[in-house]
Amino acid sequence: MRKVVVIGAGHNGLVAAYNLRRRGFCVSVLEASNKIGGMADTSEIFGVKVSRASYVLGVMPKPLVELFEIPVIEQDPYEVIVYEGKPIALWKEKQRRRKEFEKAGIERYSEFEQTLLNFKEVLKKFTFVTKPPSREEVLEEAKKVGAEDFLLKSCEALLSRYLPKELHYSFYYPGMNNSSAYLVAYFFAEWQVVKGGMGAVAQSVFKKALEIGVEVRLNTKVERILISKDRVLGVEADGKKFEADIVLSTASPVATASLLCHAPNFRFEAGKSNWRKHNVILKSYPKPPDVIKGYLNSLIDLESMGAGEIVFPSLCDDTLGGKVLNVMGELEPLFELFPDLKDCIKVVDTLTPKLAEKLYNLPGGNVNHLPMKEPYLFDERPKKGMGYRTPIKGLYMGGAGTYPGGQVSGVPGYNASNAVIEDFEQGEL
Ligand SMILES: Cc1cc2nc3c(=O)[nH]c(=O)nc-3n(C[C@H](O)[C@H](O)[C@H](O)COP(=O)(O)OP(=O)(O)OC[C@H]3O[C@@H](n4cnc5c(N)ncnc54)[C@H](O)[C@@H]3O)c2cc1C
Repeated sequence: MRKVVVIGAGHNGLVAAYNLRRRGFCVSVLEASNKIGGMADTSEIFGVKVSRASYVLGVMPKPLVELFEIPVIEQDPYEVIVYEGKPIALWKEKQRRRKEFEKAGIERYSEFEQTLLNFKEVLKKFTFVTKPPSREEVLEEAKKVGAEDFLLKSCEALLSRYLPKELHYSFYYPGMNNSSAYLVAYFFAEWQVVKGGMGAVAQSVFKKALEIGVEVRLNTKVERILISKDRVLGVEADGKKFEADIVLSTASPVATASLLCHAPNFRFEAGKSNWRKHNVILKSYPKPPDVIKGYLNSLIDLESMGAGEIVFPSLCDDTLGGKVLNVMGELEPLFELFPDLKDCIKVVDTLTPKLAEKLYNLPGGNVNHLPMKEPYLFDERPKKGMGYRTPIKGLYMGGAGTYPGGQVSGVPGYNASNAVIEDFEQGEL
């Protein structure tokens, strides 16, 4: 039986481990920290469970949500955008959703969304792959449905055609303005909270992996990937050698590169990260402003007010043991919106790129391991010519730094493990 070492028990590492084990490989997952999940992390703060890093699930494809029985708590509307002091509710039903934008005076929203959904159908064909597609391959298919501008225009240029500027950051993240509008489609999703916090995503996969015999070792930081003549031999961790025919790293490409002594082609940049995530434990819920009353169970998008996005997961999840507010952005602007918020706060846990670097063994604190923009899209992620395979035989990569990219999707781990299976079946390993 072929032996595999998976580096990292983040959700992608666990998905990869499960998929390889069910195809008969002998799989050990080595995790540096004392818990599974990586950035799909439910932590206890003052006895209350919080999604410490990621906070909503949206980009995981349905087949994986179903396969791993992820306990998603469906809300409708799944999101509300505050625009010009009024709510735009994103209902699951598209006509109802589109009417909301019309009501807000955004006449071209329907046209924009239809092209976007057509493009997302195209992207579906390129989701489960063992070799990332090139931009040109995706462009070819996009042309057939009239959605080529998602590849030919930047986020800012494309959205300017349809939406007022104040709404742009509800559809892509700051720093992506000049990057391909493909990213607008990548992040367009029905974002929902998960029962038990985002750590429950990893726990669901973990449970399935354990049932079929995956071994997971915590507090086991891989220090070196062992190679001889461009062939992987295993890894070194805790001063011990773990021999393996295959090593699949789901640590970030920057972290993976640091484990290789002489691999000149392995150089990656995590880019600059500048984000704040506040996990607020509340004594009581603050009085909501009228604009979001009735939508408190949904993800609340306050980007047009410069206040990021917030969610009160404890309003729809009674397993957290307390009242929780997650804030991706700054706290200050929220004090204006919720005048009594300061009095309601018990404790604030603030996560920064520096702290994430330490907690999640994540050089540079990039939430997506590598920037989500050119030149790290499609078959250039993590680097042109690599995909999930590397120039070192038996060494694969399958974390957020590989195609299609970051967020809690499980796709990189799933695809990378399928690349291993494919190579094995073709006698390449
Ligand atoms: C503040 C914040 C908010 C976010 N919000 C969302 C959101 O709402 N929705 C969403 O979908 N995504 C969100 N994300 C992004 C998302 O969480 C990540 O992109 C995703 O979890 C990455 O998963 P992964 O399994 O690829 O990697 P990781 O979660 O980084 O897991 C990699 C694992 O490898 C381990 N590791 C690293 N080096 C070694 C080593 N040498 N030896 C052994 N183990 C090692 C790490 O400890 C870690 O456990 C957010 C992230 C952050 C930080």
